[in-house]
Amino acid sequence: MRTGINHLFIPGPTNVPERVRQSMNVPMQDHRAHDFGAPNMGIFRDLKTLFRTQDGHVLVFPASGTGSWEAAITNTLSPGDRVLMARHGQFSVLWAQMAQRLGLEVELIDLAWGAGAPISEFAHRLGADRKGEIKAVFVTHNETATGVTSDIAALRRAMNEAAHDALLFVDGVSSIGCLPFEMDAWGVDLAVTGSQKGLMMPPGLGILGVSPKAMKAAETAKMRRAYFEFSDQVKNNETGYFPYTPPVQLLHGLRAALDLMIEEGFDAVITRHRRLAAGVRAAVQAWGLEVCAESPSLYSDTVTAIRTPEGVDARDVIKIAYDRYNASLGSGLGPLAGKVFRIGHIGDCNEGMCLTAIALAELSLAAAGATITFGAGVAAAQAVYAQHTQASIAMAAE
Ligand SMILES: *Cc1c(COP(=O)(O)O)cnc(C)c1O
Repeated sequence: MRTGINHLFIPGPTNVPERVRQSMNVPMQDHRAHDFGAPNMGIFRDLKTLFRTQDGHVLVFPASGTGSWEAAITNTLSPGDRVLMARHGQFSVLWAQMAQRLGLEVELIDLAWGAGAPISEFAHRLGADRKGEIKAVFVTHNETATGVTSDIAALRRAMNEAAHDALLFVDGVSSIGCLPFEMDAWGVDLAVTGSQKGLMMPPGLGILGVSPKAMKAAETAKMRRAYFEFSDQVKNNETGYFPYTPPVQLLHGLRAALDLMIEEGFDAVITRHRRLAAGVRAAVQAWGLEVCAESPSLYSDTVTAIRTPEGVDARDVIKIAYDRYNASLGSGLGPLAGKVFRIGHIGDCNEGMCLTAIALAELSLAAAGATITFGAGVAAAQAVYAQHTQASIAMAAE
């Protein structure tokens, strides 16, 4: 019998704030009524601000992140097109698999799980592609499986230096809204996300930023698509409507979630994620454990993947946390199963929640056989949070 709340420390679906939950408790609406469209215009406007795009469109599909992947591919590419991708975690692996299933010719770079996107290798391949056969580069901004954030600005610089005009596809499912993301400045052509991670909503929306260049590519792209057709969306979205029945409740949730982010400030949301993540990483260090990310420049501020010590099965840690402490930790995906557990610090999160995650991870690690000094991780994280609090109190006093 589980009592109290389930502590949800997985990197998606994330915790849905009460205000967002309540906002969705509305009677069903007429989605063709004359007053249905106007409020959605504000949603599109605020999504564009969130994605940091002026000229792009942000489309909202009834789907999840995976649906946005498919929409991005099928609208802008043609069967047999060559695309460049790297595999360094579960999500980049799955996206590559989808690209193959859909009939693209995928040029793959395989890396260790824990590595970042291979910018210099991408640059090398693009530089060597004199005939422009590579039509798109796909990159996972934040590998949720490994807790690795890659440098998209550096990739854009490399593409510009190679004077290559491939489309740039970016999976931002666990980054957009929580980590710095610059659709226009980084020249991202297809920016993929979903509702249930940084946007603090239930699953059900696939959200996709589309650049003018990608919109143009859609005019001649030959891949088959029907439900996800961009032009149907764009035409209807102009007045706040959708080509087919939209998930009305989720649109109310999205409005409330965007309002919360705007009240906090989009930049403040990002700063908060950085602060909370620093505390979690300090705890991992205090435990004497390693994160999956290969180097500090890759550390993700939305999810930390923690390697369990030799002889300690991460699946036991996760099971104990769930059964004994009513706490959900993220599992190790694919080849990381049993080796890694993850703490999601994404979306509607605060210091108290992170400290709870750390304290319960300590109990669960110890019960699974790890040598843990109780409180060591909690104290290390508290020290990080205390420093920020003291600094902000001092600033306010100045
Ligand atoms: C969660 C996630 C996805 C998949 O999204 P779904 O919403 O489960 O379809 C894709 N990429 C990344 C990086 C993710 O974190």
